[in-house]
Amino acid sequence: MVADRKTQIVIVGGGAAGLELARKLGAHYGRKRHDIILIDRNRTHIWKPLLHEVATGSLDASMDEVGYRSHCHRWGYRYLYGQFDRIDRAAQQVHIAPMFDDKGREVVSAHVVRYDYLVLAYGSVTNDFGTPGVVDNCLFLDSRGQADSFRDQLLNHCLRVSRAMVARPTSDARVRIAIVGGGATGVELAAELYNAADALGYYGLEVFDRARLDVTLLEAGPRILPALPDRLAEAAHGELEALGVKVLTGMAVTESTEEGMKTGDGAFVPADLQIWAAGVKAAPVRGGLDGLALSRGGQVIVRPTLQSETDDRIFAMGDCAYSMLPRRDRPVPPRAQAAHQMASTAFTNIKRLLAERPLVDFNYRDHGSLVSLSRFSTVGSLMGKLVGGRMAVEGRLARFVYLSLYRMHLLAVHGWWRGSALIAVSHINRLVRPRLKLH
Ligand SMILES: Cc1cc2nc3c(=O)[nH]c(=O)nc-3n(C[C@H](O)[C@H](O)[C@H](O)COP(=O)(O)OP(=O)(O)OC[C@H]3O[C@@H](n4cnc5c(N)ncnc54)[C@H](O)[C@@H]3O)c2cc1C
Repeated sequence: MVADRKTQIVIVGGGAAGLELARKLGAHYGRKRHDIILIDRNRTHIWKPLLHEVATGSLDASMDEVGYRSHCHRWGYRYLYGQFDRIDRAAQQVHIAPMFDDKGREVVSAHVVRYDYLVLAYGSVTNDFGTPGVVDNCLFLDSRGQADSFRDQLLNHCLRVSRAMVARPTSDARVRIAIVGGGATGVELAAELYNAADALGYYGLEVFDRARLDVTLLEAGPRILPALPDRLAEAAHGELEALGVKVLTGMAVTESTEEGMKTGDGAFVPADLQIWAAGVKAAPVRGGLDGLALSRGGQVIVRPTLQSETDDRIFAMGDCAYSMLPRRDRPVPPRAQAAHQMASTAFTNIKRLLAERPLVDFNYRDHGSLVSLSRFSTVGSLMGKLVGGRMAVEGRLARFVYLSLYRMHLLAVHGWWRGSALIAVSHINRLVRPRLKLH
């Protein structure tokens, strides 16, 4: 007699959406009832909206990242370390590419993982729109590794400038940083740099201060923060300029060189560090998605139930999913709150599928957009019945709501008790730990 085979639910990508879903499914079914498998090419998860703080050293990522192995042990799912390569829909298998260590030795060989239901949650990457020189000369903020690399380079430049000033006090040495993209990531990073520059003085670089930072924010559109109302975008623009950031709007970057950035109107912005933070596209899948319907940006087109338009057994959520809003005028934006909400709907629908009940539709609730200008300010707009439509917010209330999004993620990933304890510990850490991570 053949033993009953457990239903195998495979989630590709343990980010904002995938990790929350793995925790919920694992906690609900445990290992005995179904086999929940999470595949990720990293060994730890860090919530992406924290990356600009990791990049400037304002946040020590090792305090906030989640190790998949210990997490899966606790919550009743399996974690496989591997790079998702392609799908074979007929065989209901995902193919995992081999993984190598720094010395080129194979760590994980190529293999396949069977699925009964597959959830794609492999996120997005920054879109450089094919701009010449960007891949070679710019840094991106898509992963912890990239954020760490930015921080190392930033500290080295600050150290060089500091040494130059010690050697010659009249030196006009500066750290020149060009950031492309006046969306939330670019704006938050620009402000966070000034917070870091202020803190460097406490840690041995006594002669370095924010006057030595030369930050330029380049935005192709007519204003920064297009997702926010005019008034708030103007407030953020003014706040950045008060800090010392040169904000250049209507300035499309046409090329990046080793020395800096060329713009459409023939200007040149010299820079020691160049960061590209303009636009996102679905993360590439090397071997393809076996005929799943894709949007022009490469996202998996999903029905309101979050099942792929092409295959009922495959769900997609988060940044790699293309889900139309009910009025069908635009897709759900690639944001952390959308990933969080999609994980809840995917959880409900997988439970319903297994119980042979009808599925529910994903109903995106836009709670608004908030942008943190580090400790200097927070601006944004809140949406919803509670505030009677759309309400512009600034200051402490905005900061509180901004932090709430991460707290919700912590609770969804760790459960109420552990999540609440971690929130409390993070408050203590802010008081007792150094203001900057310098290594
Ligand atoms: C710097 C920055 C700041 C942001 N700030 C905000 C903000 O303030 N507010 C907001 O709402 N949103 C913000 N976002 C967007 C938000 O982070 C994303 O919308 C959200 O993380 C999407 O969740 P996800 O689960 O779809 O993807 P992710 O969280 O990106 O997770 C994808 C996971 O898939 C894994 N993966 C990818 N490819 C493969 C593969 N081939 N094989 C195996 N694993 C793979 C990755 O390792 C990762 O763990 C920000 C994004 C960035 C980059």
